[in-house]
Parts: sequence; C-alpha cells; structure tokens
Amino acid sequence: MNVWHQLEPAETLQRLESGRDGLSTGQVDPRRETHGRNELIERERRGPWTILWEQLWEPMIWLLIVAACVSILIHEYLDSIAIGAIVLLNTILGFVQDYRAEKAMAALRELAVPEVKVRRNGAETTISAVQLVPGDIVLIAAGNRVPADCRMLESFQLQVQEAALTGESQAVTKRVDAIDDPDLPLGDRTNMIFMGTDVSSGRGEAIVTEIGMRTELGKIADMIQGVDSQQTPLQRRLLKMGLYLAAAALAIVAIVFVLGILRGQDTSLMLMTALSMAVAAVPEGLPAVATIALALGAKRMLRRKALIRRLPAVETLGSVTVICSDKTGTLTENRMTLSVLRHGDFRWDLPQQLSQAQVVSGGDEESTKVLEQQPPLTMALLAGTLCNDAQLISENVDGKNVDSQGEPFAAEGDPTEAALVVAAAQFGLTKPDLEKYFVRAGEVPFDAERKRMTTIHKVPASNDLLDPALAAAIDLAGQSGRGTYLALLKGAMDSVLPVCDNTMDSDGIHPLDDARRSAIMNANDELAADGKRVLGFAFRWFDAIPEDDSAESVEQEFVFLAMAGLIDPPRPEVKEAVQRCRSAGIRPVMITGDHPLTAQRIASDVGIEHNHRAVTGRQVEEASDEELEQIVDEVSVFARVAPEHKLRIVEALQRRGHIVAMTGDGVNDAPALKTADIGVAMGITGTDVSKDASETVLLDDNFATIVNSVEEGRVIYDNIRKFLQYTMTSNTGEVWVMLAAPFLGLPLPLVPLQILWINLVTDGLPGLAMAVEPGERNTMSRAPRDPDEPIFDAVMIRHILGVGVLMGAVSLAAGYWYWYSQPTAQYDAAWGTIVFTVLTLSQMGHAMAVRSANDSLFRIGLFSNLAMFGSVVLTLVLQLAVIYLPFFQQVFRTTALSVTDLLICVLLSSIVFWTVEAQKWYRRTKVADRSAIKAS
Ligand code: ADP
Ligand code: MG
Repeated sequence: MNVWHQLEPAETLQRLESGRDGLSTGQVDPRRETHGRNELIERERRGPWTILWEQLWEPMIWLLIVAACVSILIHEYLDSIAIGAIVLLNTILGFVQDYRAEKAMAALRELAVPEVKVRRNGAETTISAVQLVPGDIVLIAAGNRVPADCRMLESFQLQVQEAALTGESQAVTKRVDAIDDPDLPLGDRTNMIFMGTDVSSGRGEAIVTEIGMRTELGKIADMIQGVDSQQTPLQRRLLKMGLYLAAAALAIVAIVFVLGILRGQDTSLMLMTALSMAVAAVPEGLPAVATIALALGAKRMLRRKALIRRLPAVETLGSVTVICSDKTGTLTENRMTLSVLRHGDFRWDLPQQLSQAQVVSGGDEESTKVLEQQPPLTMALLAGTLCNDAQLISENVDGKNVDSQGEPFAAEGDPTEAALVVAAAQFGLTKPDLEKYFVRAGEVPFDAERKRMTTIHKVPASNDLLDPALAAAIDLAGQSGRGTYLALLKGAMDSVLPVCDNTMDSDGIHPLDDARRSAIMNANDELAADGKRVLGFAFRWFDAIPEDDSAESVEQEFVFLAMAGLIDPPRPEVKEAVQRCRSAGIRPVMITGDHPLTAQRIASDVGIEHNHRAVTGRQVEEASDEELEQIVDEVSVFARVAPEHKLRIVEALQRRGHIVAMTGDGVNDAPALKTADIGVAMGITGTDVSKDASETVLLDDNFATIVNSVEEGRVIYDNIRKFLQYTMTSNTGEVWVMLAAPFLGLPLPLVPLQILWINLVTDGLPGLAMAVEPGERNTMSRAPRDPDEPIFDAVMIRHILGVGVLMGAVSLAAGYWYWYSQPTAQYDAAWGTIVFTVLTLSQMGHAMAVRSANDSLFRIGLFSNLAMFGSVVLTLVLQLAVIYLPFFQQVFRTTALSVTDLLICVLLSSIVFWTVEAQKWYRRTKVADRSAIKAS
C-alpha cells in the first residue's frame, strides 16, 4: 500500500533520499537499474519474428504452396523447387518492406514520448519522460501530462484532470499538506498527482514516487492498451475490394480450367495453370502496399518536420480543404520584441538597439529621462518584469550585464514574456535583482480564457535600495495608501481594463472614467491595427495575501498603468505557403487570441483573405449554428478566440462539408483538435495534452510545414493509386492472354512458372518503386480529393481494362504470328517465349508511362525515380537471363531468341508505352483547350 500521501513533504524527500535540488548524477543511474525505465510495457509491438510469420499468412503464399505440392505430385520437381524459391523470395521481399514500415512507425512512436522538466544537481533540465526515476523533482505546469506518480511539494493553483484514472470529470486542485488517512481513495489524495492525468491549470513542483508499471496507471495499464493499430479507411477499402477482385479472379480461373479440360488438355497441367493464374489474378498485397506507402510516407514527412501520430492522417491530409491555424508562432515567428509603450497621450517608441555601454549604465540618457518623468511607464515595466514567468539569462561578466554570447540580454520562456523581461533589463530593471526585493508570494496563472495573469509580491519596507525612478514610481503608486503586498497584473487590454477602477498618471491616481477608458481603447486599437500584440499592465495593493486566491476575488479594483505594443514578424516562408494553399484549393483560416485589428493586419501581411472582416470569439459564441455556418463560409480571420470557440468553428466547417485541419497548443484546445479531421499540435510550444489529442505534431510549429505535409499526403495517395493502376493492368493483361489463346486455337501460351515470374518479379519490383515516385507537377495546383471518391474511378477502370486488353492483344498477336508460321504444341517453342517476353517488356514500358498521370516520361525524366529506373533495368536483365541461360531455359521452358526476334519483341512491346503516352498527350491538350476556352 502506498502511503505517500500520509507523509509530509520533508519526510517524502527524506524517504526517497532526494532534496529540493533534485537527485545528483550519481544517484540517477543506480535507480534506473533498480526501477527500470518509466514506461508502461507495450503489448503490441511486432517483433521481426511476428512480421516474418505474418508474411506466411497471405492467401497467395498458400496458393503457391499448393502449387508446389501439385508439382511434386506430378513429378515436376524442378517446378516445385522454383516455386519454393519464389515463395522464399516473396517472403523476404515482404518481410523487408514490412519490417522497414514497422521500424518507421516505432521511431515515430518513440518521438511521441513527452518531455519533462526536472531538477537535478540543482539545475533545471528537460528530459524524456521515460528517463525519470523515483526521487526526481519534476516541475509541472498547465498543459503537461503528469509523467509518473508524484507527491506534491509546491502547488500554485495546480489543477489536474484525473478522469482517465478516477472517472471524475471535475479538475482537482492539488495541495501540499499530508493527509492522515491510509485508505483514502485515489481521487481524494489531493497531494498526489498520477501518471497519465492532465494538468489543466496552474503550476507546481513534485517528487516522483513511483514510475512505470508501479504507478496507479500501470496497475490498470492492461485495460487501456492496444489503441494505436487502427487501419486507415484506405486500407479497409482496399481489403474489401481485394476480396471482390479475388472472387472475380477465381471465377475467371475456373473458366480457363474448364475450357482447358473441355479442349482435352492434361488435367494436372490445367490444375497448375489454374493455380498460377489465380496467383496472377488475385490482387495480392493491396492493403500491404498501402501500409508500406503510408508508413514510409510518414517517415518522409518527419524529415520535413511533421510527426505523424496516427497513420490514417497521412491519407486524410491529402483531402484537407481548410487549414485553421493559430497566428502566434505558427504564422508568425513568435520572436517578440517590445517596440512601444503608451500611456495616455504619451507614446514612447523604444530604442531597439542600445549599445552595450548604455545597457550597462541602465539605458541611454533619453530612456532614463522618460522613466523619471513617466512613473506609470516605470511601474508598467515593473509589472511586465515581475508578473512574468520568463527568466533572464545573463552572466555578470566583469560587472557588466551581458549574456554568454556577449549580447546585451536574452530571456527564456514564453516569447511575449521574454520580450518584456529583455526590454526592462535594458533600462536597468533586471528581473533577478527585482525579484530579490519583491519576492513573489502568490499568483493567479495565465490562461487563454481570461487572457491575463496576476502575481502578488511582498514589498520591502524601504525603497532605499531601488533605482531612483522606480522608487519614485512606487511612492506615487502608494500615494493613497500603500499595503505590504503589491499585486501586478498583465494581459490583453480588453481583459485588463474591465478589472480596473482607477488609472495612474504622472501626477497620481485618478478614477478611470468613461472618457479615459475610451481614450485608452482608442490607443489600443491604433497599436493593434499596426499588427502589434498589445498588453496592458495594472497594479493594486493588498495588506495581506488574500485568503481566497481565485481569479474572481483577486482580479478586481486594479489601477491601470500603461500598455505595451509588441512586434512579432510573420515567418518569411508563410506567405508562399499561403499562396500554395490557395492554388491547391485549400482555404487558410487564422484563429487567434489576439485583437481583431492585430489579426487582420497579420492576415493581410501573409496573404490570408480577410475582406477587412474579423469575427471575434464572442460573436462566434452568440451566433446560432446556422449563422455560424454562414460566417465560416465568408470569414477567414477569427480573433479574441478562446479555445472553446475553436470547437464550434471546426464543427461548423465540417457541417459545410469541409475536411478541416486545426492547429492548437493549449490544454483546452484538445476537444477542437480531436474533432478536427486533422488535429495539428505544436511540437515546440504545444502542451502534452494537445499533442495527445492530435493526429500530427509540427516539430517546428510552422504553418508551412502543414502545407508541406498536405502535399506529401497527396503524393502518397497518388502513388498508391499508381501502384494499383500498374499491377491491376498487368494482371488484366496476363488474364487476357490466357483467356483468349484457346479461342485463337493456340495451346496454353504461358507455362505456370512464367505466370508466377511475371506476377511476382517483373510486376513486383517496379510496383514497389512506385511508392517512392516524386510528386506530380500539379500536386498543389488541383483541388483536394473528395475522401468519398472511390479509389478506382471511371478513368482508372477504363485504363486497367483498356491497356490490359492492349497488353494481352499485342503479346498474343506476336505469339500467334510465330506460331502460325511454325505451328507446334511444344511449350518450349519460340512462340511461347515471344508471348512471355513481349508481355514482360510491355509491362516495363507501362510502368514507366504511368509514373506520371499527366506529364510525359520525357518531361519528368528517366532518372527522377532512380528506384524505378533501377528496378526496370534489373527486371530486363533478369528477363534476358531467363531467356538465354540454359539452366533457366530448362526451368522456365524458354528458348533463346535470335537478335532479330528480340528486337521485334522490343518494338512490339513499346506499343503499350506509346499508347499511354499518347493518351496523356491527348488529355493534356484537351485540358489546355478547355481552360483556354474558359479563360476567353
Ligand atoms: P494566440 O492565439 O495568438 O497564440 P494567445 O491565446 O496566446 O494568442 O493570447 C491571447 C491574448 O492573451 C494575447 O493577445 C495577449 O494579449 C494575452 N497574453 C498572451 N500571453 C500572455 C501572458 N503571458 N500574460 C498575459 N497576457 C498574455
Ligand atoms: Mg498562444
């Protein structure tokens, strides 16, 4: 029985031989050895043996094994050995592909493990959650998934959603005090946090008590595992279609068999032929190919910085019609700089680059003067620095404030906050120094709903040690009664002003009347319209730390100070990405918590259509479902949006028939991310919860990466289709040859082994190479694919049947001509080899021709898919070996063709290639004509 909740924090630390500085390096390794890795043992990882075993469960392999047995029965031992070799080859090929796919997926899974902030050796570092050991001190905050079972050491309004474990849907507020009750149910152990639960707000510190399978979650882990192996819709569809096709194929095979027997063919030969044809016609490995293409595609996407967490996403990405994107950090760089401070009519455009000497002496002369004359601005900078969780990183070199790179200052943390800390430091208000005077005694953390945060600080009794301008400002602020605690607030202007009653001017504190309010809001709009993120600052006094530290009771009766405008430039690559979206028939939509004017300005900077209209979260809330549908049809910029509005926007878009990709980073974004067809989480700034709710994670938080993965998704789908088109056409060709021959009075044109050879080698190799075909030129200039569109559309079926017939006809005609001049019933006669060769070569030409659905091979280049080029060359060499090497001649019943005959075969088989190319050319010109007509 775990009794951690009964221990006081100090006892817990002691029992785990740890301290507030965390474990030392020497302590970690032995603990890892005793306790293992912090992970739940996964049940469903497929090892190499499983994968190998699964290869043998293909119906085709069974057919082959039956065929091998039949060969032995009729004493064709060479055949049975050859078939055995083919089975082996096929198994190896399948294994290699499948193993690669599995490894790609395992690597993706590994990457999806969240990271945790820990304190070890007294320093904070970030490690992978699997590296945690008991005794580790973890720092957790809103958005984290709790990485192990831990005892709380410190809690600032830390609230945890424990539904996963306890079923309780209300978030639980965590405390530190010991609870003396050994049989307390999990849900009531409010000083413990448990692996797998989600921190919904606040922050805190805790010590790891149990890891891995010993956690409460680990105890029930068996129940919750085995989730991730769902099939994609495409895979399911292919599986189903494979069954229909197999049935059809078997019917045809039966016909051939009966026809053969009726014509008095040898029964055992007909049995072998029928079996081989079944192998040829059954579309083996349809779902397998899709799996491989999808998994390798996911790997390719990873190289382009998109992590796929669920395989079906690869497919859905190709159908996306709307991308809803956050602004900050996704469309913009999230590299904020404080550019302007405003108070009343006074506007101070901050000097952007101070020289080092100026920084060391606490700002340039002008800044010093401004701060002396404008106490509200000084107070605002104080609020900006202290009501702030970013850390200044600077080393005190020779008494100068420079960071290790020699840059004046840098800060770590939320970019908005970092910008404030850096700016204030430039004017001598350095955060570490200020924090020594104004010790933080309480806080109400930031959340995207309230859009503001408050911290409470103990104020020193005397101002003696403070910078003169700051001391004066504090005095002025305390003019009408100063308390022992100073509360500082910062946030979006429209959430700061409503909690303010007064405002501070250079001469003192005044009531915030309507005139003042509207002047302030006008100034705010002006800054916002310029594309700036605007933050407001305010303060109030407390005599004691308020007992009720909830947002409602603390955040009232503030004194407004000033506002700050921050610049966050658009990412340079975004403009082009937005353009590419548009040409690909995808509508980019901006969703932001920022001010509507800021949003519109950035939208127009990156080329998102906005028609000078931005709809706010409140309007979304007030609109009825029908009204909202109309809004989402017309509007592409949503501002002052809280996470819960995102869900309604997604749902409205989906009702309008859109396939929606939606980005998100916060805990509260999870419902919208789950509902969206593609949830896209931020890899850098995103919370664990949002990542867990998403299909994909952007490792670089970049909008352009979404567009790249859409492109990749389209290419992958195209390639799966091309594979189908290629193999199905080949199969049709083979079937026609066998089916039509008897009607021409020919004996069986292909012996069983030849059929197997064509089907598995000359078909298989180029087919696999199709999976790595680069994208078409028009990948991103055509409309998104309708997800309900059948994978075999009319065009494709026509192609498969038409080209299949052509392939069969050319091969048979060539064979017939030879047979007619020298009629013989011998299988190893020249005419059979001719049929065999023309069929194989036609398929090579066909493989090259269908690489692009629109462009000619000469335009895309012979070498733009080296795997394809290589496999075609290899197949040709193998084919020559089969025709000319005496050993293979015996196995495959072939004869050496004369050079002339071989040339004739090459010429005849190129007919298929030229026909497909001509067809593409015709389509290209027709389409060009049509669009010319449309344009005129
Ligand atoms: P976005 O959707 O653009 O990422 P956020 O939801 O992060 O916007 O922020 C919404 C608003 O909340 C911002 O416009 C800003 O005014 C305010 N805000 C953002 N970060 C902070 C913070 N750390 N402290 C106080 N206010 C903040
Ligand atoms: Mg944000």
